[in-house]
Amino acid sequence: MKIAFIGLGNMGGGMAANLVKAGHEVRAFDLAEEALAKARANGCETFGTVQEAVQGVEAVVSMLPNGAIVDKVYSEDVLGHAPKGAVLLDCSTIDVATAKKVVEAASAAGYEAVDAPVSGGIAAANAGTLTFMVGGTDSAFARAEPLLAKMGKAVIHAGAAGAGQAAKICNNMLLGIHMIGTCEAFAMAEKLGLDPQKFYDISSVSSGQCWSMTSYCPVPGVGPQSPSDNGYQGGFASALMLKDLKLAMEAAQTSGAKVPMGERAKELYDEFVAASNGGLDFSAIIKTL
Ligand code: NAD
Repeated sequence: MKIAFIGLGNMGGGMAANLVKAGHEVRAFDLAEEALAKARANGCETFGTVQEAVQGVEAVVSMLPNGAIVDKVYSEDVLGHAPKGAVLLDCSTIDVATAKKVVEAASAAGYEAVDAPVSGGIAAANAGTLTFMVGGTDSAFARAEPLLAKMGKAVIHAGAAGAGQAAKICNNMLLGIHMIGTCEAFAMAEKLGLDPQKFYDISSVSSGQCWSMTSYCPVPGVGPQSPSDNGYQGGFASALMLKDLKLAMEAAQTSGAKVPMGERAKELYDEFVAASNGGLDFSAIIKTL
């Protein structure tokens, strides 16, 4: 299949490479020459504009930084330029309202489209083991699913347009909250004289157990290998966690949801990122406790 891929950064680069490996012809565009060079090395054909990249394609996949960029790229350079009938998949993490707007505009212009944000970081994007949460009609999902399956290990239809982004920010709000809670528990355990390994051995098989503890422990040398064992480098940057918490707070406001713990998590990551820690993995917030 001929596929346009827009946004070949940390995540998009590996995702596009997996579509090439699956035998697709990938027509790539990014604003950064470095990203284009990497895409060429991975077997993509590169183009100077989005409008050129989408010529003659059956699908468009995008992995861009934010909602304003996604909206602009689709409204100015994809809709009306990609062949009618192409299926459009935006995999970026953006606000629910813009995700719905992009799918609605696409539908009005004669395209089927989905919002399909991902869980999993750069390693999962490279390995093709992302989880996709997808918003859109049954028919759009049926067309998007086989392509997403080439880039991920799980593809779940969350509901109508915007539901993928809703699932993503609810999940990541919970992740921010339980990471901070896990960090607090380890920090207090230490103050109370408990060995972190002993606390892990107990809590990981007790009711305090959660993913932040057993898959991504914020204490170096405890639990399976995680960014804490590597000086909090790599993994999921605190700046990206803050971005997702801000999107979650916006969604809470517009939907009238009460999220006191989410608000506090957003404040704490705001302070952490403002203190020049945005590039550190989000588990590094334990250093403040
Ligand atoms: P990135 O900054 O590495 O990549 C974004 C790419 O988009 C860059 O190469 C940039 O040059 C390009 N770009 C920006 N504006 C453009 C435009 N108008 N046209 C074409 N290309 C443009 O970011 P990333 O880490 O790859 O993240 C991409 C998306 O995935 C974000 O929405 C992010 O929230 C989400 N995400 C990231 C992670 C992660 O761990 N990095 C995990 C899950 C979801």
